[in-house]
Amino acid sequence: MRFSALEILKQGLTGNKGWTPHWRDPAPKSDYDVIIIGGGGHGLSTAYYLAKNHGITNVAVLEKGYIGSGNVGRNTTIVRANYGLPGNSEFYSHSLKLWEGLEPDLNYNVMHSQRGIINLFHSDGQRDAFVRRGNAMRNQGDDAELLSRDDLRKMVPYLNFDNARFPVRGGLMQRRGGTARHDAVVWGYARGADQRGVDIIQNCEVTGIDIENGVVKGVQTTRGAIRAKKVGIVVAGRSSQVAAMAGMRLPIESHILQAFVTEGIKPAIDHVISFGMGHFYISQSDKGGLVFGGDLDFYASYAQRGNLPMAEHVMEAGMALMPAIGKAKVLRSWGGIMDMTPDGSPIIDKTHIDGLFLDAGWCYGGFKAVPGSGYSFAHLMATGNHHEPAARFRLDRFKTGVGLMDEEGTGSQHNLH
Ligand SMILES: Cc1cc2nc3c(=O)[nH]c(=O)nc-3n(C[C@H](O)[C@H](O)[C@H](O)COP(=O)(O)OP(=O)(O)OC[C@H]3O[C@@H](n4cnc5c(N)ncnc54)[C@H](O)[C@@H]3O)c2cc1C
Repeated sequence: MRFSALEILKQGLTGNKGWTPHWRDPAPKSDYDVIIIGGGGHGLSTAYYLAKNHGITNVAVLEKGYIGSGNVGRNTTIVRANYGLPGNSEFYSHSLKLWEGLEPDLNYNVMHSQRGIINLFHSDGQRDAFVRRGNAMRNQGDDAELLSRDDLRKMVPYLNFDNARFPVRGGLMQRRGGTARHDAVVWGYARGADQRGVDIIQNCEVTGIDIENGVVKGVQTTRGAIRAKKVGIVVAGRSSQVAAMAGMRLPIESHILQAFVTEGIKPAIDHVISFGMGHFYISQSDKGGLVFGGDLDFYASYAQRGNLPMAEHVMEAGMALMPAIGKAKVLRSWGGIMDMTPDGSPIIDKTHIDGLFLDAGWCYGGFKAVPGSGYSFAHLMATGNHHEPAARFRLDRFKTGVGLMDEEGTGSQHNLH
C-alpha cells in the first residue's frame, strides 16, 4: 500500500478499516543469501539498500527483541553533517543527502525537520576550532555559518549569554541539520525492506555464528539454526558480544548514554542547540517536550539504563545554559548502550572470516548515520568493495594505528568522545 493524501482521505471516509500492516511477520526460513543480525536503524537500512540498490532480496533481519527497541528508538534524534576530518566528513555529508530524499524514497513520513543545529562556543580557542571545522564543512560542500553573539541573542534569546564561567560568544550553525522522528525511521526502512521481499524476524536472538574452515555458514538462534552465505553484524552496543561468537575481540567498549524529556510546553526552542562547554544538547519535539542529553555514564556497562550522577550532571549543564529550563518537569529518562571506539569513529568492514561483515562503533552519533551506513554497508556486502564515502572506516586502523579519525582530539578516552 502506498501512502498518499488521497489514500488518507479515502481511509478517513471509510472508517480507517483498509490500512494494511507495514510489514509481514514471517517465520524464519532455513536458508538465506544474507542475514543481518540486529533490527536497529543500521540493520534495517542495510537490508533496504541490499534489496533496492543491489536486487538482493533473499535477506533476513534477525532482531532479538522488537525492531527499534535498541538505540535507534532511544536517541535524541539529531541529524547533522558537521564533521571536520576526512573520513567522517564525506560519509556524513553523503548520509545527510540521503536524509534529504528519504521521505519520497521510502514513501514514509519520517518527520525529518531541517530546523538547524547551533554549536555554541564560549572561548577564543573554541571559536578558532569551530571556524576550522566550518571551513572543512564548506570544503566538503556542506553548509556552515559562523554566528556572532548578537546574531544568537536574536535567534535564541533564552540562553544565558552572560554565564560567568561559560559566556556564550557565538556559534557554528548548520541550517541543514535538525531532527527526525526515530521510530518512524525504523518503520519506514522496515516497510521498504519488507515490500522488496526481506524477512524481518523479531524475537529471534542470535546465539552463535557458524564458521567452517574460515568461512561463515550461518547462525544459531533462539528459533533454530539458519544458514546464510553472508552475515552482517549490526548490533551497536552488543557488537563485542556478538563478534565474540565468531572468536573476535573488537576495539569497542560499551557505555550508557541517557536522554531526558520534559512535559510538553509551548514552542520555545526552534533549533537544535549544543552547549560547547557542558556537553549538553537540546531540541523540542513536535509534541512539545524538551528533549535533551549529555555525557556518557563513566563506566562500561550493558545495562540499558543510566545512573543518577550523570542525570544530575546533565541537569546542571542545562541550568547553566538556559536557567529557564528549571521550570519544566522532567517526564521520562532512559538509556541506550553505545558502541564506543577508541577514535570515536565507526567501522564498516569485512572481517578475517570469509562472508562475515561488521558495521559497528557508532558511539553516540549513529542515528544521523542510519541512511549512509546502510547504503555503504549494503554496497560492501553486495560487491565486496568498500563504498567510497565509508572507505576509511577500516577495522585494522586500531591495530596498525594508520588512518585513525580522532574527530575531537581526545584520544582513547571513552568518556571524552
Ligand atoms: C540517549 C541516546 C541519544 C543519542 N542521540 C543521538 C543523536 O542525537 N544523534 C545521533 O546521530 N545519534 C544519537 N545516538 C546514537 C544512535 O542512536 C546510535 O548510534 C544508533 O542508533 C546505533 O545503530 P542502530 O540503530 O543500528 O542500533 P540499535 O537500535 O541498538 O540496533 C541494534 C539491534 O541489535 C539487536 N541485537 C543485539 N544483539 C542481538 C542478537 N544477539 N541477536 C539479534 N539481535 C540483536 C538489538 O536488540 C538492537 O535492536 C544516541 C543514542 C542514545 C542511546
